[in-house]
Amino acid sequence: MKKWEKNIRRVVPYTPGEQPNEPNMIKLNTNENPYPPAPGVRRMLKEIKEEQFRLYPDPTSSVLTEALAECYHRPKEQFFVGVGSDDVLAMAFQTFFNSDKPILFPDITYSFYPVWADLFRIPYERPALDKEFRVVKEDYLRENGGIIFPNPNAPTGIYMELDQVEEIIRRNQDVVVIVDEAYVDFAGASAMELTDRYENLLVVQTFSKSRSMAGMRIGFAVGNPVLIRYLNDVKYSFNSYTMSQAALALGAAAVKDEDYFKETIRRIVETRERTKKELSALGFRFPDSGSNFIFASHETCPAKELFEALRGHQIYVRYFEEPRVCDYLRITVGTDEQMDALLAFLREYINEKG
Ligand code: PMP
Repeated sequence: MKKWEKNIRRVVPYTPGEQPNEPNMIKLNTNENPYPPAPGVRRMLKEIKEEQFRLYPDPTSSVLTEALAECYHRPKEQFFVGVGSDDVLAMAFQTFFNSDKPILFPDITYSFYPVWADLFRIPYERPALDKEFRVVKEDYLRENGGIIFPNPNAPTGIYMELDQVEEIIRRNQDVVVIVDEAYVDFAGASAMELTDRYENLLVVQTFSKSRSMAGMRIGFAVGNPVLIRYLNDVKYSFNSYTMSQAALALGAAAVKDEDYFKETIRRIVETRERTKKELSALGFRFPDSGSNFIFASHETCPAKELFEALRGHQIYVRYFEEPRVCDYLRITVGTDEQMDALLAFLREYINEKG
């Protein structure tokens, strides 16, 4: 090691899913939405003016926080926005997890959490999910420096009912609890309403999945205005202009079309439920997903082999070579046609193997 390397902050980075760009690929590996964003987004794109390139964006991002406030019927002081929920979550880790006691998150969960914890030198413990991949609520009732979990969890897709989420929050009122709801729109009730009762709760959501805008990088947090102010203090100590003028304007346009939003979700949920039935018939087992992906394992065919066979046919799914999950494929729910192509390939592959 060179002398100058000694003082370098060394990290093991998060590995994002690959982004191949082939004309006939079926891309089911990063939980993107197969449908376009709301029509108003395209209209807004045409209206973006030269000024919006030339001038810095509004540091308070008020166009977007106001649109979110209207959409979710809450004051704009309860919203914080960022460059995807990854940006929001990273800021939240830095702001709220500042104790010597370990923060808690599940052993199987979004793999960015340990990366941020290491980067910000936050101690952590990872209580194990049970055999059915469920969060064991009791594991989160011990002393800690903060809690974070996704609901639905990733990559399992399991949604925890709100009364259980609330119990975790209620019994941890001395620390900040972050509920990462990247996939909640495909599942059930959001914990957002609990922010009225619990000032230590931060709910984080994204435009990447249910609003078809992963490429624009828009995420947000909802919480008590005091919590949001602390988050803004860290943001302004780091980068005052996180989001571009274009992302702010397009994000605001996206939340204005409630009917389109509901219809897109309905289609994905319908396709998900049909895909579950067909995967089951092919010998796959999976936890009951409330998200836009299915975490499936085949009774005889190893996941890694299927992953590679699919990849060879330009069907991309996600595979994690890690303990407890290395026999599962995480399959994003695409359009009906995409799922039919995936199922046809799997049927033939599995039958041929006998
Ligand atoms: N949380 C979870 C649980 C996720 O799976 C993802 C997607 N990788 C994110 C947050 C981040 O999504 P984005 O930054 O696109 O909002």
